[in-house]
Amino acid sequence: MGKRKSKRKPPPKSRAVEPLETQFNCPFCNHERVCEVKMDREKNVGFISCRVCLEDFQTNINYLSEPIDVYSDWVDACESANAAA
Ligand SMILES: [Zn+2]
Repeated sequence: MGKRKSKRKPPPKSRAVEPLETQFNCPFCNHERVCEVKMDREKNVGFISCRVCLEDFQTNINYLSEPIDVYSDWVDACESANAAA
C-alpha cells in the first residue's frame, strides 16, 4: 500500500512570508507603512526609522517585545514630547 503524501494542504500563501508586521505609519509625515522596525535581539534594542522623513527612534526591548512595541514606544515618546513642548 502506497502512502499518500497529500493530506491537508495549506492554502497557497504569497511567497514572502512575513513573520511579523514591521512596517508602520509614520507619526511625523503621516505616510503609510514607511517606518521600518529592526530588532537587535542581542543588544535588546529596537530601532525604528522612517524612510520618507528620516525620523528615527530607538528603545529598549526584551525577548517578548515585538516591532509594534517599538512603534508604540515611539508614538508615546512623540506625544509626550509634544505635551512637554
Ligand atoms: Zn516620516
